[in-house]
Amino acid sequence: MGFSTDAIHAGQKPDEVTGAVITPVYLTTTYAQEELGKNKGYEYGRTQNFTREALENNVAALEKAKHGVAFSSGVAAINAIMGLLKAGDHVIASDNIYGGTYRLFEAVIKNYNIDFSWVDASNEENIKRAIRPNTKMVFVETPTNPMLTLIDLKMIADVCQKNDLVSVVDNTFMSPFFQNPILYGIDVVVHSSTKYLNGHSDVIGGIVLTNDEAINDKLKFIQNASGAVPSPFDCWLTLRSTKTLAVRMERHNYNAQKIAEHLLQSGKVKKVFYPGLANHPQHELAKKQMTGFGGVVSVDLGDYELTKKFLSSLKIFTLAESLGGVESLVCHPYTMSHHSMPENLKEKFGITKSVVRLSVGIEDVEDLIADLDNAL
Ligand SMILES: *Cc1c(COP(=O)(O)O)cnc(C)c1O
Repeated sequence: MGFSTDAIHAGQKPDEVTGAVITPVYLTTTYAQEELGKNKGYEYGRTQNFTREALENNVAALEKAKHGVAFSSGVAAINAIMGLLKAGDHVIASDNIYGGTYRLFEAVIKNYNIDFSWVDASNEENIKRAIRPNTKMVFVETPTNPMLTLIDLKMIADVCQKNDLVSVVDNTFMSPFFQNPILYGIDVVVHSSTKYLNGHSDVIGGIVLTNDEAINDKLKFIQNASGAVPSPFDCWLTLRSTKTLAVRMERHNYNAQKIAEHLLQSGKVKKVFYPGLANHPQHELAKKQMTGFGGVVSVDLGDYELTKKFLSSLKIFTLAESLGGVESLVCHPYTMSHHSMPENLKEKFGITKSVVRLSVGIEDVEDLIADLDNAL
């Protein structure tokens, strides 16, 4: 089936009792057992929930994966992936990664004697050089936040297959509509469904997708054993949202491309970062591994005072953390999303005090452009 058909139907069929077209919210913690040892496959709410299963099967279809395992946040989903490892293991992670992932790895997982090497994963040699006898996993995010640098998915999958490593890609920024890492041979895909998958800025959630039976079995076990499960209502809201993922992503992409081009030719900003611009250093790779360029545009305004004025003058773009919702947001990575990142790393990645990140929503693009022009 095509993406939009799957988005609306995969994992869901009319309710067998009433014919309800929309999957109900199964608000129950426990299930009646017919006799000792006999049940309908449902025993306890943490272990099995029908609404959650519908969401898992739905997003799995969109990511071209066999299995999905949902969690109560994106970070909880990444934490569950770390449960595939044991003390003494080593992970290679891309250095320009979501701040919460960096904090989880360095301040929590490291205490369990799992070691991390942070490398510029856009270069194959850096990954190969970081491999140790105890390396088990490569964890990357592409495009990166907020500089929108790309990592070659095929290259990561090949290096991991040759060296018997588990490859993991955080695909939050592109959503399954624009990028399917599993098609390039990646083992595990993770999403913060808080962002584009849910898309309405009202649910925190995460989901892990894989084709690997052994990995899926372990993740299902961890989901139940560690217990960071999403609520049935949150699953239902996210399931409602994935139905419109295709149309939302098309509009995010259309608006972001128009805005990136407008800002570039306005001559009023120092630099525009967007993989859909022909001047993006990895525009060719972007066209190869993505079917669109997403809704995030980063801009270096060149001057901090101007940036502060710009941020307080915007009327439609709201100054806020997060991204991927229908409404346009603007964030100041230096003091907000990347606040906890050491100065030298911010400098290395080009995250200056005059960089702003736009999460372009699906409003009328003329209004968004007028808002940006006015603030500039
Ligand atoms: C937001 C985000 C996360 C964390 O997800 P939460 O749902 O906030 O826990 C992980 N990765 C990326 C790329 C994100 O943007």
